[in-house]
Amino acid sequence: MSDFNPTLTLKERAEVALNDEFLRNAVKFTTQKLRTGKKVASDELGNWEDWRERARAIRLHTIAHLDYYLGEFIKNARANGVHVHIASNAEEAVDITMKIAASKEAKSVAKSKSMVSEELHINHALEQQGIEAVETDLGEYIIQLAGETPSHLIIPAIHKNKQQVADLFSEVSGETLPADTKVLAGFARAKLREKFLEADIGMTGCNFAIAETGSMVLFSNEGNARMVSTLPKTQITYMGMERIIPSLEDLEVMATMLPRSATGQKLTVYMSTITGPRRAEDSDGPEEMHIIIIDNGRSEQLGDPEFQEVLNCIRCGACLNACPVYRHVGGHTYGWVYSGPIGAVLTPRLNQDMEKWGEVAYASSLCGACHEACPVKIPLHDMLVYIRRQKVEEGYTPSTERMAFKGFKYVMSDYRRFKRSMKLGKIGQKFVAKDGVIKSKMGPLKGWNTYRDAPTMAEESFRESWSKLDWELSRDTPSMDPEILKRMNEAIAKRGKNK
Ligand code: SF4
Repeated sequence: MSDFNPTLTLKERAEVALNDEFLRNAVKFTTQKLRTGKKVASDELGNWEDWRERARAIRLHTIAHLDYYLGEFIKNARANGVHVHIASNAEEAVDITMKIAASKEAKSVAKSKSMVSEELHINHALEQQGIEAVETDLGEYIIQLAGETPSHLIIPAIHKNKQQVADLFSEVSGETLPADTKVLAGFARAKLREKFLEADIGMTGCNFAIAETGSMVLFSNEGNARMVSTLPKTQITYMGMERIIPSLEDLEVMATMLPRSATGQKLTVYMSTITGPRRAEDSDGPEEMHIIIIDNGRSEQLGDPEFQEVLNCIRCGACLNACPVYRHVGGHTYGWVYSGPIGAVLTPRLNQDMEKWGEVAYASSLCGACHEACPVKIPLHDMLVYIRRQKVEEGYTPSTERMAFKGFKYVMSDYRRFKRSMKLGKIGQKFVAKDGVIKSKMGPLKGWNTYRDAPTMAEESFRESWSKLDWELSRDTPSMDPEILKRMNEAIAKRGKNK
């Protein structure tokens, strides 16, 4: 599957993914590996559930007092010499970025991985101003060359194989590169090193922002975030407004949970804590540092009893790896920046557009595996049900579905109607059933029957079987308490009258 196609519906995007055998195998293989890694790392820690409780408590407390901690963070970051900007939406964040870039007469930008910057489509905006933006995380670099968006929170190019990467890199290098991991990684390293050195601005995301010190924390495995945040003279950090944690002490808990949940590592290879721009005594670092704190729909979740907890997310990706739907269709099916169960909640909620995005909440079996996997215990499956309810209440369900449920209610609210519909169903199924299953791919059963067979209705209904069982019980159980037998027979007689 190439990328999100806005002209396709969720169902159509899922079809494309399901027909891509390589994508399905690659996503299944990698998510399984990540899940195994997480299990080993959490078992090794010993008291995982206690850590989960602690991490959840920190996030709940922080989000409940977000105004206070944001205020503390801004005050301390400014005291550290950082320029702090607030953007209420993506357009404002892009505007602020462009003003900074213009003031520096920037020609090129080196970026490390940042999901919030994907919300802004910042690369596109920079390119329109003639500024080259280069992703320096290897996975992000691959998908940037392919003109795609990330298909996993942690492994953006999860859906690509070595040959596809070799083809993309060969186009850049002008020579045919073999599908060999070492060769391809070596090519990217050499190419990106030039970009780090040339860049006028370094751009990063922010895993956590510490209110007490005004610092921001970056986790990475490739070292590119460190290069991006030290080599260019100007640094811009994008930060979702919920990234705050109160203190360094809380970072210990988050640094224990995030890498273990994301990749099964005890700690990522690099963890950088950046507290302001370069000082006189520092050997490296940016001369000027900006942090853009981005709302973009997040404050709408605050105070909402059903959704506030979604702001607790630490973007580890564990819910994606656990989700049976994501594991089949990968990330692009979800249509926006975030995928998997967290994407199915964030997409309609941050965009505040139930008509366009409400359908992604249906990309879930509601099995609860996401909740089980989540290191901060976000009840994602409950939120998905609330979004479905919201979509129905706002009238964004197809008229056929509304009619079907009205019909269902009409039939189910009266036993005689129910009985008649069962009779009709039994007659109707004769036209579409074969060998005890319905294989027809027509009408409302099409979606279901494309991948599985629906069983036919039983020749004898449960009520019919039950009536016989009552009769057999009364006849075949002479030792039954006569009083109970009498009451049972009375109940049977009464029900017979109601039929
Ligand atoms: S919802 Fe939980 S599991 Fe999913 S990305 Fe966020 S923190 Fe990780």
